[in-house]
Amino acid sequence: MRIHRQLGFLASLLLVIHARPIAKPVDDYEIAKNYLESFYKLAPRIPNLTDRESDSLIEKLKEMQKFFRLKVTGKLNRETLEVMKKPRCGVPDVGAFSTFRGNPKWQTNRLTYRIENYTPDMSEAEVDDSIRRALQVWADVTPLRFTRIYSGTADIMISFATRNHGDGLPFDGPRGVLAHAFPPSSGIGGDAHFDDDEDFTFRSSRGKCIVLFLVAAHEFGHSLGLDHSDVRGALMFPTYSFIDPGRFSLTSDDIRGIQSLYGPNRDRNPIQPDPELPTAPNVCDPNLIFDAVTTFMGETMFFKDGFVWRSSPSGSVTQHLISNLWPNAPDNIDAAYEDPVGKILFLFKGKQVWAFKSNIVEPGYPKPLSSFGLPPSVTKVSAAVHDKNSGKTLLFFDIYYYSYNEVMKKMDKGNPKRLADGFPAVTGEVTAAHLIKDNMYLFSGTKVYEFSNGRKLLRVLKNSNFLSC
Ligand SMILES: [Zn+2]
Ligand SMILES: [Zn+2]
Repeated sequence: MRIHRQLGFLASLLLVIHARPIAKPVDDYEIAKNYLESFYKLAPRIPNLTDRESDSLIEKLKEMQKFFRLKVTGKLNRETLEVMKKPRCGVPDVGAFSTFRGNPKWQTNRLTYRIENYTPDMSEAEVDDSIRRALQVWADVTPLRFTRIYSGTADIMISFATRNHGDGLPFDGPRGVLAHAFPPSSGIGGDAHFDDDEDFTFRSSRGKCIVLFLVAAHEFGHSLGLDHSDVRGALMFPTYSFIDPGRFSLTSDDIRGIQSLYGPNRDRNPIQPDPELPTAPNVCDPNLIFDAVTTFMGETMFFKDGFVWRSSPSGSVTQHLISNLWPNAPDNIDAAYEDPVGKILFLFKGKQVWAFKSNIVEPGYPKPLSSFGLPPSVTKVSAAVHDKNSGKTLLFFDIYYYSYNEVMKKMDKGNPKRLADGFPAVTGEVTAAHLIKDNMYLFSGTKVYEFSNGRKLLRVLKNSNFLSC
């Protein structure tokens, strides 16, 4: 068994070399070793690969894959390495619960903080504001209140530092670890340190910049007693992903975690929505027109504005921000479909298309619509659906639709087709489309047209028929 597992590990290394000719295998191995030493308590060892070491390395690798809900193989595959290379928090992931061992928490709801120094990346006013808003994220949902002090020792001391900075947990230069913080206790407890080798920013988005507010809100979760969560999209998930700070909201996982320690915010009960945050449309409004509908990994996803509702086969519906489920997706979308063979989700917005496996964007995406063979005159795709019976994907635009052959990866001949020819019952633009079992559903306005496998109109339904309203 042991030999088999070791061989598996080595084989996967070879695979990595094959797939990534530029990367040296030793680099990836070193990355994995350092990562597991830092965040999964892998005992540091000398390079000589002994049986015991490789065994514990495989075990730690499995632990890490389990935490990130990757396929648990114990092998250093591309998916695992990608996660390891993401910028992240410096606090280890060993805690299986949402609070630290022993549930350390502050014994008072009135806490002080002090900003000891500033990063040169931002103005002092921007740092002050980022820190204040990051604490407010937690104050919004708990009885905790934060007061800033300018001298002396605060409960939460906030500082920017590089490399060795006196707590035995040196930072690692640009990228990698972004910050760390200590659970509640006296002394260093509660303090948050930010790696000033990062390029911090106030609001921006793309590029290499890290939004200080997002990192700080996560670290203050630790300062208040929360450990990492393995719920993707939660603020307490260990890796950093960009979310527009104006659209940020805590997930229910984060709220449950912090309220298990401090209880809810009694001043704002129920919590008033922050005017800066987008408000979700009423999914049961009979006049609601969905932007897109698709199946994905056994669930049905309904998209409107920045939100997505996931409907499970059991009928339960949960609401999310699109950016929480797919951090690199556009804010809102025009169309979506699932390629069930490749288990890929395609999201369309304007003249671009994004492809996701699970919640990770596929290499090379977003791509232009021309990658599907669509002509430049198609300025957006208003609906898309994959018909597994024919292997074709239908892309709707205006009064036309295009039929794309997923097997041949090219457009069928004779495109575009007129909607009136293929689906005469549908008189308006198709705004969303999806397939359940063998039947195809085309959404047009507030109506939903149900077609059989042979494209025969079966029924005309309403949006609300799908969401147990
Ligand atoms: Zn963390
Ligand atoms: Zn530190």
